Amino acid sequence: MCAIFGIVDHHEASSLCYLGLHSLQHRGQEGAGIVSTDGSEPFAYRKKGHVSEVFSSGTLHRLKGTAAIGHTRYSTTGANTMANLQPLLMKSGLGWVAVSHNGNLINAPTITANLEKQGSIFQSTNDTEVIIHLMARSGQQEISEALIHALKLVEGAYSLLVLSRESLIAVRDPYGFRPLITGTLNGSRVFASESCAFDLIGAKYEREIEPGEMMIVPFNRPKGLKSLFPFEKKERKRCVFEYIYLARPDSLLFGENVHEMRKALGRKLAKEQPAPDAEVVLPVPDSGVAAAIGFAEESKIPFDMGIIRSHYIGRTFIEPRQSTRDVGVRLKLNAVGPTLKNKSIVVVDDSVVRGTTSRKIMKMLREAGARKIHFRVSAPPTTHSCFYGIDTPTRQELLASSSAIEAVRQFIGCDTIGYLSLEGLMEVAENKAGKGFCHACFSGKYPTESTG
Ligand code: AMP
Repeated sequence: MCAIFGIVDHHEASSLCYLGLHSLQHRGQEGAGIVSTDGSEPFAYRKKGHVSEVFSSGTLHRLKGTAAIGHTRYSTTGANTMANLQPLLMKSGLGWVAVSHNGNLINAPTITANLEKQGSIFQSTNDTEVIIHLMARSGQQEISEALIHALKLVEGAYSLLVLSRESLIAVRDPYGFRPLITGTLNGSRVFASESCAFDLIGAKYEREIEPGEMMIVPFNRPKGLKSLFPFEKKERKRCVFEYIYLARPDSLLFGENVHEMRKALGRKLAKEQPAPDAEVVLPVPDSGVAAAIGFAEESKIPFDMGIIRSHYIGRTFIEPRQSTRDVGVRLKLNAVGPTLKNKSIVVVDDSVVRGTTSRKIMKMLREAGARKIHFRVSAPPTTHSCFYGIDTPTRQELLASSSAIEAVRQFIGCDTIGYLSLEGLMEVAENKAGKGFCHACFSGKYPTESTG
């Protein structure tokens, strides 16, 4: 879970990169960075925190040049340290290279161990650094050739932007796990994880970078871009969880709008897991809103906001030392008593991971007076960890990995529980966005040979 953004051939490259990252903040909140260039030197700035806290007009002014790449980080591998923030910037025989990476490389620990045995010194515990080391050792003179060499040796998920003195290269792994799109802004070439970044800066969406595609934008001929497919072809395996939870609802992702996809999942859920005696459909905001709209549409049960989310939660919070109640979930979510008092309600959320949030929500809704709670989830039970870039906990921590559905219901504390089936999920996703999804977190069917 990270975001990447890139732009070539624009006099305000770093400011536009900043705006792009701002709109992609939901994909990673630990830290952010930008590397820009005027075609000779790199200018870099990275810091922990949210995009708006990381950059000031002063820092953006110092990020000179007409090309830039950026990154927001949500750690899936490596610790939350400064050295792990991206874009990574390193110098080798190839000159300087900066990399922004979304995804996870499964065989990075093995490659790192082998390279360290041969004397390589790693600066971070970030799997992305492996790519730069492999590029530097490739023996190739061209950045693109060195990158192809490196990427042929890694396995897993990568949507990458690679900036050097001469070009910006965008590349997506042959499975296409993570999104990456391209477009134009008054003739300048732009790249982003999701289209909401283009909307903010007024860029025109052109298309996805295809799974296995490498697009090279040379600085001396930015319009003479090259597209190649240098890797062994694989069946595409786009991450279906991007649609369920991760992406922003206003984004076009894998060619389809996320909000519409979520509503369709909610409609399917209502068909598969109806709650006929319910009087009102309530989403868990914000993640369950679209699915709850779909559920209400299909079931003809009225939709309402019975849970309200506070948008003002800082990253640190001081709990009173002698409080009589667990402030926890109420800090973020609170029930609207009159909307649900003495009613049979359907509560819709997008996914259950550990189940601890849902459990607290059920308790809160009962305390607010709900008579009966039907809990509906617009995804199948999350039973397996993700090795391709989503921050799912270990299998032991996943509620549904070891508990039968009745045990899950009892733990969460609802009267009935219903998940969307894997078949239902795939039917909706494939009808709208075509075949080719990774659903390993729900099925345990990992597309790659090794899983780390
Ligand atoms: P829990 O079951 O308590 O672990 O939390 C489930 C909630 O977290 C759901 O409402 C999801 O919207 C949200 N969620 C799902 N996956 C993730 C993730 N990888 N990181 C953060 N939140 C997530």
